[in-house]
Amino acid sequence: MELSTRITNITGGGSDGWGVFYRARRMIREGIKVTELTIGEHDIRTHPDILGAMHAAAVAGHTGYAEVPGILSLREAVAARITERTGVVTKAANILITPGGQAGLFAAHNAVCNQGDTALFIDPYYATYPGTIRAVGAEARAIVTSPDTAFQPTYEAIAAQATGAKSLLINTPNNPTGAVYSTETLNAIARACKEHDLWLISDEVYDTQVWDGAHISPRTLPGMTERTLVVGSMSKSHAMTGSRVGWICGPEEAITHLITLATHTTYGVAGYIQDAAEFALGQGQQVEEAVAAPFLRRRALTLDVLKGQNVVRPLPIQGAMYAMLDIRATGLSGEDFANGLLDAHHIAVMPGESFGSAAAGHIRVAMTVDDADYVAALQQLVAFAQSHVPK
Ligand code: PLP
Repeated sequence: MELSTRITNITGGGSDGWGVFYRARRMIREGIKVTELTIGEHDIRTHPDILGAMHAAAVAGHTGYAEVPGILSLREAVAARITERTGVVTKAANILITPGGQAGLFAAHNAVCNQGDTALFIDPYYATYPGTIRAVGAEARAIVTSPDTAFQPTYEAIAAQATGAKSLLINTPNNPTGAVYSTETLNAIARACKEHDLWLISDEVYDTQVWDGAHISPRTLPGMTERTLVVGSMSKSHAMTGSRVGWICGPEEAITHLITLATHTTYGVAGYIQDAAEFALGQGQQVEEAVAAPFLRRRALTLDVLKGQNVVRPLPIQGAMYAMLDIRATGLSGEDFANGLLDAHHIAVMPGESFGSAAAGHIRVAMTVDDADYVAALQQLVAFAQSHVPK
């Protein structure tokens, strides 16, 4: 029986870019010790107090169908957090609770793209972006950025692709590049969106992990509140990746329709998970800083290990839990480098090519193992790179 092209074409027919990751997982299953610096998963688990709140909520009976838009008190807590952080007055009616940020990205594109519309995204990109766009029946069009501008998109690059497009998806702090978009970049994005009448889908799931500069939500910029859907998540900020809880923040009319979409797709998020999320948000910024602290520490360790050599060059690590490293001095592609490093030293990193053409000749290192293992792996990575520099 024939399946829809929408579902069979989600990966666009190409590889999903996760070959090195799958190979590393196979080696681990075979009993080989591999240092995994691949996916964006904390090396700590969800805090026991949050699990306690989750358990208490479940035992108290919050295990039935929860309100589809999200329980009002959690929507209010998310709205209050956004108001406090951005200054844009935000109410529960502007918030839909989603099963994680990924479901938010899918729903947001569903809300703004018709079948066959063009949706823009920035290359390098988080692995699911083009597939998410294709999953709603839209056409994914990349805006290619450059390592020379630390992968910050320019107005010219966006405008050159914007004709006829419906939306633009951005991510700051950025996975995979570690960039935090500057005010200048965000103003350029806002200008392009307004001139080309684009919806902006702003993925801000790393908003608590900023090491350099400040996170600015583009929803705060003049004329942007009404055309921006912000995607947020508890995954990265509270080490709650497995709980699947996040949100979309946007204009009330869009949220009303997104609630209808949720009624016909997810039917909401488990009540006890929402209660735990509300508890976690109630713990304040200190908890978020504690979850982010290991990455800030390992960022310093990264810069320390990489100093005094120029074969492995870090792009500015301004935010998120990744270091994007330029390994072009080795003459290897990111793919060959990552495969070679896995074979030689049992260290798994992501090839830049997994995240689009712009990151070719780079690798992405997730700073997600304990400090001593992390430093040892990075030192081996540098030695491996140095041994491959053409004589
Ligand atoms: N957006 C970005 C940029 C990510 O890196 C991730 C996860 O790694 C997500 C969204 C999805 O996160 P979640 O669905 O766990 O909230």
